[in-house]
Amino acid sequence: MYNPSTGEVIALTPMCTAAHVNDAVEAAEAAFPPWWETPPVERARVLFRFKTMLEEKFEEIARCNTREHGKTLTESRGDVRRGIEMVEFACGVPSLLSGETIENVARGIDCETIRQPLGVCVGITPFNFPAMVPLWMYPVALACGNTFVLKPSEKVPLTAMMIARLLEQAGVPRGVFNIVHGGRESVEALLAHPKVNAVSFVGSTPVARYIFETGTRHRKRVQANGSAKNFVVVMPDADVEQSTRSVVEGAFGCAGERCMASSTAIVVGNAAKDALPSLAQVAKTIWVGPTDREPQPDMGPLITRQHRDRVAQLVGTGVEEGAKILADGRDLQLNSGGFFLGATVLDEVQNAMTVAREEIFGPVLNVMRADDLESAIETINYSPYGNGASIFTRSGKAAREFKHRVKAGMVGINIGVPASMAWFPFAGWGDSFFGDLHMQGREGVQFFTQQKVTTTRWFAEGEGNIWSTK
Ligand code: NAD
Repeated sequence: MYNPSTGEVIALTPMCTAAHVNDAVEAAEAAFPPWWETPPVERARVLFRFKTMLEEKFEEIARCNTREHGKTLTESRGDVRRGIEMVEFACGVPSLLSGETIENVARGIDCETIRQPLGVCVGITPFNFPAMVPLWMYPVALACGNTFVLKPSEKVPLTAMMIARLLEQAGVPRGVFNIVHGGRESVEALLAHPKVNAVSFVGSTPVARYIFETGTRHRKRVQANGSAKNFVVVMPDADVEQSTRSVVEGAFGCAGERCMASSTAIVVGNAAKDALPSLAQVAKTIWVGPTDREPQPDMGPLITRQHRDRVAQLVGTGVEEGAKILADGRDLQLNSGGFFLGATVLDEVQNAMTVAREEIFGPVLNVMRADDLESAIETINYSPYGNGASIFTRSGKAAREFKHRVKAGMVGINIGVPASMAWFPFAGWGDSFFGDLHMQGREGVQFFTQQKVTTTRWFAEGEGNIWSTK
């Protein structure tokens, strides 16, 4: 794995085999009974200590994150902060686990639900949020009484390891949390292992689909977040400065390597005249450079040379297929050895073009034109993905119509990147999600627990004694 700012190899990721995976799952299985019997409030105390340690090491983690991923320090701090919020959410587990009770479902009979852990759970995570995405999964899973095996991205294993050491120091018992590394081989072993009960996955759609299909075939509970194309509609009445800033931040933040990147702006009617020149202008002023040093640039490199080349190639395909290039990041010349591409804006993109159909996952903003809100919504709903969609407008009526009709799980009204936070589900639709229960919020708690319904009747002394011969 590399420092993407310089192209240097900074560590070698161990590629775990099925035997390593088996050791980790067996350790998690052995640690499950005592961890389950630990009262939720005591499990929460471990997480409170974990949260304190994450705060103490906040800057160190952010720097590690930047070094292995390439995002700016400010972006890395956001990555760690969002992750800590998940730990804070999981600290509330004694309340989150509470069930329901109804007295007298029939005369003298009461009914209650309780939530119990599943056992060994697994997390498989992508490269783009090395701190946050693993923390979407295991704090809640552990708080609910499960044990866990994490398989972080082989491209960014260091932040996950640094955070895991803190969890150990916070007092999580041996075997409750485990890490395996590697790629396809370790994932396949996890999916097929009979002692794994649930799999939480975040990554690209082809792999998400495969994980969902394979995991469920092996009778595991699976939630799998996939790729995305996210849209920002700029209405003619939108505030030009606010919407331009949001579109630019949404498209080029984290160099576009976000599943919630606002990778397509749909400019409606006259908005094109006002917003487009400033969009292209602002994109050209984004300062791109190495993030592993001061001063910090606005935007860092992409994750690998191959990925940078793939994104540059897609831009070329877009132009060949008829898109107009307003800002060309391929012109960028830097000699740090890193995997850089400048901010790119493609205008007049059409639904059928490759750049409209494929997730680019780089610093490329597609611009599409629409005559009215109706056709903007049609374009969005044509996409097989359904992660995020936003609208910039001053009209409550347009915003309501948009919220009601758009096929996306996370909707923004005058918000460029409507990524939901820890207390709400991260709610992708369509090919952006496979499964039923999403990550984060109460759905996360539901995913990592199973319900038991107990129906109870108590007899008075001697009453209803069916064995009595009297
Ligand atoms: P990826 O799918 O290549 O890898 C994700 C994980 O799957 C990694 O741990 C990897 O080792 C493993 N993996 C890769 N190929 C595999 C295979 N053939 N068989 C088994 N396991 C395999 O994704 P990535 O490039 O690391 O991350 C970027 C993708 O993740 C983008 O598509 C992005 O949209 C998506 N993403 C989605 C969300 C979301 O919540 N919807 C969040 C972050 C990232």
